[in-house]
Formats: sequence, C-alpha cells, structure tokens
Amino acid sequence: MFDSLTNRLNKAFKNIAGKGKLSEKNMDEMLKEVRMSLLEADVNYRVVKDFIANIKEKAMGTEVLDALDPSQMVVKVVRDELVALLGESETSIHFKEEGITTVMMVGLQGTGKTTASAKIANLLKKKKDRNVLLAACDVVRPAAIEQLQTLGQQIGVEVYSEGVEVDALTTAKNAYQYANDNGFDTVLFDTAGRLHIDDELMQELENISKAIKPDDILLTVDAMTGQDIINVAQSFHERLNVSGLVLTKLDGDARGGGILSVRAVTNVPVMFVGLGEKIEDLDIFYPDRMAERILG
Ligand code: GDP
Repeated sequence: MFDSLTNRLNKAFKNIAGKGKLSEKNMDEMLKEVRMSLLEADVNYRVVKDFIANIKEKAMGTEVLDALDPSQMVVKVVRDELVALLGESETSIHFKEEGITTVMMVGLQGTGKTTASAKIANLLKKKKDRNVLLAACDVVRPAAIEQLQTLGQQIGVEVYSEGVEVDALTTAKNAYQYANDNGFDTVLFDTAGRLHIDDELMQELENISKAIKPDDILLTVDAMTGQDIINVAQSFHERLNVSGLVLTKLDGDARGGGILSVRAVTNVPVMFVGLGEKIEDLDIFYPDRMAERILG
C-alpha cells in the first residue's frame, strides 16, 4: 500500500545521503520532495504542512547539523515525526478490572465491521484469554446476523441474537444480561451500519451507548476510502466519543493518506488494522512498526 510513498521518500533521502554538512538549500530540497510524496499519497494538506514544519525545525537544530552523518539524523527525525503522527504508542482495549468489559463496534456498511468484530473476538479469546460473547445488534440486515453466527462458529465464540424482530437496543441489553448470567467477561456488540451517516443510525447507536456504557467504542474505517476516513471518523466521534479506530483493508492498494492523517485530525487512536478477509488477518496497530514499513 505504501510502495509509492516509500520509493519517493527514499529518493528524497538519497539526495542528501553522504553529503556531510547539509546546507539549508539541501534541506529545503529534501523537504520539498517529502512534502510532494506525502501529498501524492493523499495525506491531508494541513497534516502535511505541520509535519514538514516540525521536521524542518528539528532538522535545522544543531544536533542534526553538527552530526557526523546529518542525512542519517534527518531520516531519524522523519521517522520520529511519522511515529508521532501515527500516535506514539499502541492503544489497547480498556478492560474493566472487575465485571464485564463491553466493546461496541460501529461503522458504515461494508467497511468490515462484522468481520472485525469476529477477528477481535478471536484475538481476545486466544491472546488475552477472555471469555467473549458476540452480540448481534445489526438487526437491519438479516444477513449480518447469519454472517456473525457463521464467524462465531468458526472461532468457537458464542453469538447472542434475537433475530431481526427485536430492536437493537433491546437485543444489546439482553445480551449484556445473558453475559452476566453466564459468566462471560467480555461482550462485543456488532451494531448496524448504513451506506451513509444518517441521524437515525446515530440515534440508534447513541441509545445503545447510553444503555450499555461501553468501555470502548471502536469505529471501523475502510482504508480504500482514502481521506473520506477523516470525515467519517469525525462524524462518528462527535456523536459517540469513539475510543479507537479499526483500519480495515490495509492489504488493498489504497495510497495510505487517510491512514496517515486520521489520527492527527481526529485525535482518535488506531487500535487495530485489518489485513485481509481471513479471521487471523488482524494486527494490533503499532505506530513505530507502521513508520518503519512506510520508510521501507
Ligand atoms: P460490514 O458491513 O461493515 O459488517 O462489513 P463486512 O464485515 O461484512 O465486510 C465487508 C467485506 O469486506 C467482506 O467481503 C469482508 O470479507 C471484507 N473485508 C473485511 N475486512 C477486510 C480486510 O481487512 N481486508 C480485505 N481485503 N477485505 C476485508
């Protein structure tokens, strides 16, 4: 996904490699290249502006200019800024010390919400030894319930459902009660998505959120939608106070700009990344590893 960005950044670094002392002109030319490569990757304009200003300030510092190999120091400055842009360190689910941890999954239809619910349930079960219940609260699409049930069977996680006749809020409350009565320590609520953000969708999600008071609200956003990720994340965040993002379809050929911008613009951390259609294709998001990947 970041191939083109990686190539261009490396070209920019090559131009200053082995130069010994760097002049302001060398630096400006390099920064211009970095700027162009980020814009070409569809990174948000304001994010690029701040990013370049930060690098320039740090790279013109004496620590870099007086270094034995200034070009290497500049690459380190860019790397550190990339990590900062992506969110410094990983963010994990806010598990309750006692009682049931609740996670609400929200997102637009087709972004991979149901798949992500099952992937995260599987990860929590296997890696964190959690006793997870999946709650099928997408009562708009009967297929969504079936899909969750199939995935639940595949990973050996029980799915609570009352079909499409019962509304989402009631199903969510009953699922919580069921989890409480049956010794589950974690519930993941798969909620309905729509093709577009509308008031009805947001109201339903708000109602569930008020009733369940989830420890986390995770929003799935599709990397293929580029900078639109930012608008979607902002709209959901304003209404629901989203605590984390799941970036899906990172295995696709999106240019990556949305991914690089969304944290800086919305201040919502990325928690997980989806890397394919299979259950195992989910990773915890590590900003430093992502920065390394971008730099190649
Ligand atoms: P929902 O409508 O948001 O619940 O979306 P689904 O979970 O049904 O996923 C929509 C489609 O995207 C399905 O065909 C999934 O297999 C696919 N999908 C989900 N996550 C990923 C991912 O990380 N990579 C790829 N390539 N496909 C994904």
